[in-house]
Amino acid sequence: MDTGPEQAYDDIVRLAATLCDVPAAAISLIDHDRQWFKAQIGLDARQTPREEAICDRLIMEPGRTLVIEDLSAQVSFPRPKARIGKDPLRFYAGTPLMSPDGHAIGTVCVLDTRPRTLSRAQVEGLEVLARQTQHLLELRRYALEQRRLLSEREAFAQRLEDARADLQRRNDLLEHSATHDALTGLLNRAALAQLRDNPEAMRQLQQAPYSLMLLDVDHFKDVNDRHGHLLGDRALRAVADAVAASIRHGDVAVRYGGEEFLILLPDTRLESAAQVAERIRQRLSQAALPFALTVSIGLAAGEPTRDWSEQVFDRADQALYRAKARGRNCIVADDTPLHGV
Ligand code: GH3
Ligand code: MG
Ligand code: MG
Repeated sequence: MDTGPEQAYDDIVRLAATLCDVPAAAISLIDHDRQWFKAQIGLDARQTPREEAICDRLIMEPGRTLVIEDLSAQVSFPRPKARIGKDPLRFYAGTPLMSPDGHAIGTVCVLDTRPRTLSRAQVEGLEVLARQTQHLLELRRYALEQRRLLSEREAFAQRLEDARADLQRRNDLLEHSATHDALTGLLNRAALAQLRDNPEAMRQLQQAPYSLMLLDVDHFKDVNDRHGHLLGDRALRAVADAVAASIRHGDVAVRYGGEEFLILLPDTRLESAAQVAERIRQRLSQAALPFALTVSIGLAAGEPTRDWSEQVFDRADQALYRAKARGRNCIVADDTPLHGV
């Protein structure tokens, strides 16, 4: 209903008019309260009220072609107001259009302003045209269905892609939160255990001497006790920021314990690592905190290795212990020769 004109339907009504030698013909479709012409020639209307439609009678009792030779002689049929030119309709012949499930949905009809009849060949021709119209309507329904299925499939594919992207996002988030410390944003201890899976870090460790740094906040218990846990947390973030700002790409910074940090510096000798440690100390001394915060740092050197050694960790830990013993707020490097690493 209410689609634009189409050549194929226009051709059929023109053929029907020529075949039956009449001035008007139409493909009429019956809707709830109107008849609408998909195609017509000779008539002065695109649609009419349903109660004026003779075609409506035809679809109520769909048999074969209905021929009314003189409408003015019939009292049981509606009087259509449609005109051909200025003249009222006198002659009507129509063949019902059937849907695939057997419902009459409209007609192919021919009309004239004078009483007349159709030859048998003309009636048969009208019925052939009605069948062709049915095929056209079925093809259209099929094409519409295909289009609907296609757009459904596209919508489904889009939903699938959205769900996949969402899953990926959640997965990335999950992976990030599994390997990162929520307070400071640095790597967490679980990530340290996965270091072997980090090809870039491992390649660097295997290529050149590396350094291991252990950093512990001084008197942090007092910070919490004096200033409260919220400021304590802020202080930890300041330490993490100082670390992150002082290391280079490829270095691995981990919040190892509550106020303890581990920094693995691939391809870095102790002297350079000590400079990094000093940078961290300096940065922290300038942190925007309402109290002074210091750290103690222990450093140890590691040889190129397939794995970073527990021994190197122990020596960095001892160096840190010495830094604490030395009065805190300082850096101690363990540069004793390595054995069996
Ligand atoms: P030292 O100089 O010997 O290292 O003294 P310290 O007080 O820093 O050492 P200690 O290990 O006794 O105290 C560590 C404190 O760090 C105790 C704990 O409450 C606090 N802490 C650990 N994790 C967090 C945290 O996530 N937030 C806050 N605010 N405090 C934390
Ligand atoms: Mg500690
Ligand atoms: Mg401490």
